[in-house]
Amino acid sequence: MGDGIKPVYSIVIPAYNEESVLAESYKRLTAVMSALETPYELIFVNDGSLDTTADILDGMAGRDNCVKALHFSRNFGHQAAISAGMDYAAGEAVVIIDADLQDPPEVIPKMIEAWRAGSEVVYGKRLSRKGETVFKKLTARMFYRVLRKVTNVDIPVDTGDFRLLDRKVVDTMKRISERNRFMRGLVAWVGFSQTPVEYVRDERFAGETKYPFRKMVKFALDGITSFSYMPLRIATTLGAALSALSFAYLIVIVCQALFTNTTIQGWASTVSIILISQGIIMMMLGMIGEYIGRIFDEIKGRPLYIVARSEGFDTNPILKDG
Ligand code: UDP
Ligand code: MG
Repeated sequence: MGDGIKPVYSIVIPAYNEESVLAESYKRLTAVMSALETPYELIFVNDGSLDTTADILDGMAGRDNCVKALHFSRNFGHQAAISAGMDYAAGEAVVIIDADLQDPPEVIPKMIEAWRAGSEVVYGKRLSRKGETVFKKLTARMFYRVLRKVTNVDIPVDTGDFRLLDRKVVDTMKRISERNRFMRGLVAWVGFSQTPVEYVRDERFAGETKYPFRKMVKFALDGITSFSYMPLRIATTLGAALSALSFAYLIVIVCQALFTNTTIQGWASTVSIILISQGIIMMMLGMIGEYIGRIFDEIKGRPLYIVARSEGFDTNPILKDG
């Protein structure tokens, strides 16, 4: 149970199978936060971990009044974990930070300073990334630039979820009920005064990435589909272009038949045209499917996450939907 003092700062830490880093994250976060001499809370969101993360968190919550733990009933994903943390946070400023210490906790005081100076959103902007694969860096770099091109929202490049949000922004975000949420986009979308704080992204302290390729693809698709109609527009444009080309070719064929005596040939060209256009049609159907799937998710209106139990909070809500 909490000690009843209302925290000013809430730190939200999503954790999925992070047993090897939690002790160290806790140590470094506590060192940074206690130095500020202002009431704070550390909300760890255990996103259905299969290792000993749950026990470690319960232990911490039992020993330290500042630590609170939310345990999901299963793995709902990083973005849902962040949402849950924000829903349960009581502070005036809420900081979201990864558990693996890639976002250095020592940057938090700088964020708080900018917040005190009047910023409502302070986002961490990565100057460089240490110890990540070339593939990850390259795909991330491309993703943020493509995202910027295809959306109408000014989503800052090279910005992760490491950020500070003012209470006003958190309350606004809580009113957004999207299922497949892409937090970075939503934070940009809600507006308010936003300031970057630059930092160097460290290596993961221990363990390995919880974002396999599959999750990266889902994440990228969520980002693009929830902020852009561009893929659908590409379908329309390509369709129009193909029709125009086919029409031109039709004229050529008709002229050939009327004015020349070349025999009908072109098995190869026919087959390749069919294959190419079928391929494009399939891809476009898939694209449309991505949107329809997401519409389906919204329509079902299921909760974003399910909290199986919570530790260290003053009130103990069991199930809360996002
Ligand atoms: N995470 C989570 N649920 C997931 C995947 C990841 O809560 O399904 C958390 C993870 O514990 C970490 C953060 O999200 O605190 C970022 O994940 P990770 O460090 O594995 O991603 P990367 O830094 O490799 O992009
Ligand atoms: Mg990481």
